Amino acid sequence: MRAPERVDAVIIGAGFSGLYMLKRLRERGLEAVVLERGDDVGGTWYWNRYPGARCDVESPYYSFSFDPELEQEWEWTERYPAQPELQAYMSHVADRYDLRRDIRFETTVGSAVFDDAAREWEVTSSGPQGEQVTRARFCIMATGCLSSSRNPDIEGLEDFTGEVYHTGEWPQGGVDFTGKRVGVIGTGSSGIQAIPEIAKQASHLTVFQRTPNFSVPALNGPLDPEFWADVKANYRDVRKRARSTPTGMPFPPGSESALDVGDARVQEVFDEHWTLGGFRIGACFSDLGISREANDKLADYIRGKIDTIVEDPATAEKLKPRDYPVGAKRICVDTDYYATFNLPHVDLVDVRANPISRITPEGVATGQEEYAMDVLVFATGYDAMTGSLSRIDIRGRDGRSLRDHWAAGPKTYLGLSVAGFPNMFSVAGPGSPSVLTNMVTAIELHVEWIDEHIAYLCQNGLETSEALPEFEDEWVQHVNDVADMTLMKQANSWYLGANVPGKPRVFMPYAGGLTAYTQRCDQVAEQGYHGFQLA
Ligand code: NAP
Repeated sequence: MRAPERVDAVIIGAGFSGLYMLKRLRERGLEAVVLERGDDVGGTWYWNRYPGARCDVESPYYSFSFDPELEQEWEWTERYPAQPELQAYMSHVADRYDLRRDIRFETTVGSAVFDDAAREWEVTSSGPQGEQVTRARFCIMATGCLSSSRNPDIEGLEDFTGEVYHTGEWPQGGVDFTGKRVGVIGTGSSGIQAIPEIAKQASHLTVFQRTPNFSVPALNGPLDPEFWADVKANYRDVRKRARSTPTGMPFPPGSESALDVGDARVQEVFDEHWTLGGFRIGACFSDLGISREANDKLADYIRGKIDTIVEDPATAEKLKPRDYPVGAKRICVDTDYYATFNLPHVDLVDVRANPISRITPEGVATGQEEYAMDVLVFATGYDAMTGSLSRIDIRGRDGRSLRDHWAAGPKTYLGLSVAGFPNMFSVAGPGSPSVLTNMVTAIELHVEWIDEHIAYLCQNGLETSEALPEFEDEWVQHVNDVADMTLMKQANSWYLGANVPGKPRVFMPYAGGLTAYTQRCDQVAEQGYHGFQLA
């Protein structure tokens, strides 16, 4: 083992969060390093390079706001950024601010242990040069919300003789599906984006669907030059507006109630948003997220659209979600998803009605039939929000493990800090708005808050900061209470951990919106970091 490396701060992950955190701490005069599993920057967008991978937030808004020069020099080409463009953007950021020299690539963190006596974190990782210990006063988890991909536990997978891929760990060189029989398991956002692209190459595509999702058209295309010029000319205002809405996007949710305005107006607003493209339709009335009656109107509208696109009525019926409200699972944003099922070489298998019984050497077997495949693609999602933290052996005061502390579900104060884990901060952690908002806006707010908090500690001669247990409990309760006011808990979603067998069923993100959340974080800071034990 090499000699321990000693720095002020260790940051785990080199996605949007880790890059910006490194930049801020360096400018603050701290010595910081980033440990990153991949061989390049990008985080979630580094791993998710499956065909069709594209952000569902529009390009001009899904970018850093901290440097007006960066905003002006970068040119987005499409309305929604595709994975290669996001990768190029983050690469550009890493180069422009000379961040790479402090990023250790291909480095997997195994443990992070708080040393009570020295009051520092000891982070053990393995990388190209073997095992490395990094000691640091601050440990910042920039590990991402959707970074721990999971293959379902289906019997026989190891016997399959064809190729197997997961959308969240896609090979760098891509996959050639030409002339192959392909099976895709999973119809969430990833599956819904990949399926139309895979169908363009495969000789036959079988989609195994357990739960249909509500999907709306992206209407992607080249970025409108006039719109882009206008955003660039008004970027400060655009960013200000993005930070003042619940979603972190520069447009407010609808203010009318879908129950008050009459059917003609409801139809008109839905039509407007359907032709606008994107998931803004999910918030086009004020009560879609809180009233099942209002939400049913949108659900009926989308089901009606499926009927108009999908030619075979039996297939259309299978594709219609029936048992949860729109938005309780993240609304998918697609390009030609439903139309793909009109192609003669694409089949939809309902594995809720006929569950997959096993993977065979040749393909996939349900109780009723066997489907021969050359390639299997798992679009089966993630151990979201907690998975990337729980796969690291994290130990706080007195050797207490984070896995134990979170055995009944994640507990944090503001999604930023955990009681008993001093000087450990998470960016977009469970209990923060993160995945329910524009991630980049949420990340920037967190990075800036953590940076300012660290500056406060340094300026006031304080050695450690951690959430007080009673404030952590109160915040967990508040996160739950807020979720209870919405329809969000009415689906078996990854927000609730329902996709991972045995995971506690706890609503993880904060559904109160970015505006209320930011006010709370600011207030906590203004009150001398109320709810934190500072020593
Ligand atoms: P996901 O939403 O969790 O979807 C996983 C899919 O796999 C679901 O359809 C699930 O069915 C199915 N599945 C899991 N285990 C299965 C099994 N044993 N048998 C059959 N089906 C099984 O994961 P994801 O699609 O990767 O998306 C995760 C999140 O990433 C999204 O919600 C979104 O926030 C983000 N994302 C965003 C974009 C974008 O920006 N455009 C793109 C991709 C992903 P059940 O529903 O029945 O569990």
